[in-house]
Amino acid sequence: MKILVLNAGSSSQKSCLYEIGGTIASQPPKPLWEAIVDWAHPTDRAEIKVKTATGAVLEESITTQSRAEITAHLLNTVWQGKTQVIESLAEIDRVGHRVVHGGQSFRESVRITDAVKQTIASLANLAPAHNPANLEGIESIEKILGDDVPQFAVFDTAFHRRLPDAAAIYPGIYDWVEQGIRRYGFHGISHQYCAQRAAQLLDRPLNDLKLIVCHLGNGCSLSAIREGHSIDTTMGFTPLDGLMMGSRSGAVDPGILLYLLRQGELTVDQLDYQLNKESGLKGISGLSSDMRQIQSAIAAGHVRAKLALEIYGHRLRAAIGSMLANLGGLDALIFTAGVGENSPQVRSIACEPLAFLGLKLDATQNQNYPIDQDIAASDSTVRILVIHTQEDWAIAQECYHQSLQ
Ligand code: ADP
Repeated sequence: MKILVLNAGSSSQKSCLYEIGGTIASQPPKPLWEAIVDWAHPTDRAEIKVKTATGAVLEESITTQSRAEITAHLLNTVWQGKTQVIESLAEIDRVGHRVVHGGQSFRESVRITDAVKQTIASLANLAPAHNPANLEGIESIEKILGDDVPQFAVFDTAFHRRLPDAAAIYPGIYDWVEQGIRRYGFHGISHQYCAQRAAQLLDRPLNDLKLIVCHLGNGCSLSAIREGHSIDTTMGFTPLDGLMMGSRSGAVDPGILLYLLRQGELTVDQLDYQLNKESGLKGISGLSSDMRQIQSAIAAGHVRAKLALEIYGHRLRAAIGSMLANLGGLDALIFTAGVGENSPQVRSIACEPLAFLGLKLDATQNQNYPIDQDIAASDSTVRILVIHTQEDWAIAQECYHQSLQ
């Protein structure tokens, strides 16, 4: 079965094509074709990069058009020109879409119908930067492939659907609960994939494991996983809650926001921009949201970059402690996403305070670009895993397992 996966963002779109056979491989396979299109900069051009499992590569810059036109252009490279990997688009059996917010309406992946699209649209107020783009992606594919190819929505919130009320409900007025203001949690596709991959790597049933997944990318979140379900997570009603991130503040005293608004110098939109785009590593360092640049600036003696990493580490350790307390034990601490997979320094900053529990990193393994490996010392009481998150592959598997009834 050939499954196209689309991850449609506001100014970029990632897509890939997987072939899934009768039995699911234990190692995620390479996609047959993958493409990324970015139309953020410059504004009138869309930059396209395509590569295939056989190594063919295509890079081009086209005039920015509608998402449907860009997507159609992109999909032509699946079957035309030097990157062609199938004979025609008719070979695509199913399409999976990453949808960021499923609210309380979607607790599982779902086949997309008109009613589902309407609900995704109605959730746009909860995820204004994401759900409208996700919906545009769905509608673009409908235009290109027609109604007969089944499309599925896979939600970033769904893995956190079993958060206990004590973890999910904010202690504001009870009316908030009735308005749907609660912790939803995000990065669920990645947290779930990492939990399943950890069980595979540890060769133990997922149901028996207590896990903490640290998804540290541009956006950062932790999840505490027991019996295969997320029981706590750091992102909340929006992806702004929790850890310090690349350009997002993470949790701050809500009184600061009231204070700033009362000062009257910022509009709500300006405050939103500051918290989402100008804060976190970028805000404190004044340099960049990119951890690599923070680390090289620290090496060059940059004081605010050093402070930024200290705050990042402090908050990461505090959040791991909080996950740990509610989990009541830990079999494995898992690092994933850009920073989690690539920064030995951040992994050691996170692990050091847990030494009293007997959790010990193997210093050599930690430095060795480990992917899908255990980097704990042999006598560590807790395993420490680095897992390459494969959200697209997880979405493809979800689609494969969905029935067409
Ligand atoms: P996103 O959340 O957008 O999917 P990624 O998971 O790709 O982001 O993570 C992006 C971040 O990963 C970059 O901003 C960068 O800070 C970090 N990163 C990538 N490679 C390295 C590295 N070798 N060392 C430290 N950080 C890295």
